[in-house]
Amino acid sequence: MKHFRKELWFEVKKRRELINITPQIQECLHNSGINEGLLLCNAMHITASVFINDDESGLHQDFENWLEELAPEKPYSRYHHNGFEDNADAHLKRTIMGREVVIAITNGKLDLGPWEQIFYGEFDGKRKKRVLVKIIGE
Ligand code: ZN
Repeated sequence: MKHFRKELWFEVKKRRELINITPQIQECLHNSGINEGLLLCNAMHITASVFINDDESGLHQDFENWLEELAPEKPYSRYHHNGFEDNADAHLKRTIMGREVVIAITNGKLDLGPWEQIFYGEFDGKRKKRVLVKIIGE
């Protein structure tokens, strides 16, 4: 069995942003030389997500609005967590959007549905953060 591990780094200028990382994940798969197996991709931070959905700008604005309704950033004082920090909303947003994705690898390709794209969801940006890619198979 082969295995491959890589960390992808992101530094988002804004507090919140969704980034399509499908090309970087495809590059990892290519470099791994694995044709059949599983790929795990997870955020290594508790205020960021990795998830799969449509790359459509209206939907991305809908995610932003929906997450702000569920866990508004402000006022910071509404959260117990915000004693020394101001990112309680980002922890909650990350929990809803998920930590990781697992994708089947078939014939050397990501076995995704027709509209499935992989996203890094940043909810507390302006700092360097990592995503882990682990691939196992043959
Ligand atoms: Zn925090």
